[in-house]
Amino acid sequence: MHTLNINLPQKNYPIYIEKGLMNNIGEELKKIYKNKKIAVITDANVEKIYGQKIRDNLKNDFEVKMIVLEPGEKSKSIDVLQNVYDELLDFKITRADLIIAFGGGVVGDLTGFVSSTLLRGIPFVQIPTSLLAQIDSSVGGKVAVNLPKGKNLIGSFYHPEAVYIDPELLNTLDKRFLYDGMAEVIKYGCIRDENLFQNLLEYNSNKELFDSIEEIIYRCCKIKKNIVESDEKDTGERMILNFGHTLGHTVEKHFKYEKYTHGEAVAIGMYHITKKSENMGITQKGTLDKIKKILIKYKLPYELPNMNKKEVIETINLDKKNKGNDINIILLKRIGDSFLKKIDRKDMNMYI
Ligand code: NAD
Ligand code: ZN
Repeated sequence: MHTLNINLPQKNYPIYIEKGLMNNIGEELKKIYKNKKIAVITDANVEKIYGQKIRDNLKNDFEVKMIVLEPGEKSKSIDVLQNVYDELLDFKITRADLIIAFGGGVVGDLTGFVSSTLLRGIPFVQIPTSLLAQIDSSVGGKVAVNLPKGKNLIGSFYHPEAVYIDPELLNTLDKRFLYDGMAEVIKYGCIRDENLFQNLLEYNSNKELFDSIEEIIYRCCKIKKNIVESDEKDTGERMILNFGHTLGHTVEKHFKYEKYTHGEAVAIGMYHITKKSENMGITQKGTLDKIKKILIKYKLPYELPNMNKKEVIETINLDKKNKGNDINIILLKRIGDSFLKKIDRKDMNMYI
């Protein structure tokens, strides 16, 4: 078992990472929660595979209510939020009870937001089930739902009581979602961990990757922990986590969130900005080749699709994160070493 503790001024909580952790989740929860009622929020895919398991695990000690959402980003909506509030109130949940987010990032973000707002805050725990959720969205306290005008526009910072990560859950994840999450793993390697990056390049099969998955998740969560601890509210260093994301977001948006997954778009973003920065002599020569090699290996795209450059820049300017005269972009010095560069809005075209 790997354990990490997130230490923030207002909140400390543990992250546990262990294969098979789900088999014992009832016992684990008993250590931190003494009341009876637990609401488990999940989606239909996860419920189908693991619903019985979590019910069986909790039923002896807790009174359990399952709330099952339709899988996919559409569930991070105000309508779904309203239904979830209703179901929780019908269950007569109180602030002394517990909510579990049992699913990927969609379930985690929505459940976190529900928990942070209903009755002015109900404690919750994260049991992330997708790779992206295990290495990224379940750690760091950002919770949100979408509005028709854009993603994650309503949200807050609200941390769980604990995060329980069972890498064995990933065995049932669709390959496309696995590689989607791998893009963020690769991002961690690029920004902070050359050794992780190198290891990823050397695995010869998915079996070798899975043999090391516990360690990989641990390293990613550790990087995120350190960054979040030094900049919880995302005003400085935490922006490093956005490597590849400025362009990535526009690619996702341009294709209406249908053609590319988030990870695929980020992969294109990481490759493309490094192409520019390596050409300018900011990034060590050879870095781009390594990124290309690793993206191909994990079945991720790297070429920028045919998009109008002017439109891309306009979209970047509209992004809620890019207000004011300056834009923060993340560049690599080399693999494992990144920095934040403030550039004038009008110079953005040099990096696209
Ligand atoms: P997701 O929650 O939609 O999960 C992806 C798919 O995998 C879904 O179809 C789901 O049903 C399925 N699935 C999940 N676990 C499974 C398992 N163990 N076995 C079989 N199928 C499984 O998407 P995601 O990629 O996990 O998360 C994306 C969301 O995360 C986005 O809404 C994004 O905004 C958010 N996000 C949040 C943060 C944050 O800091 N809060 C960071 C990154 C991303
Ligand atoms: Zn991301």
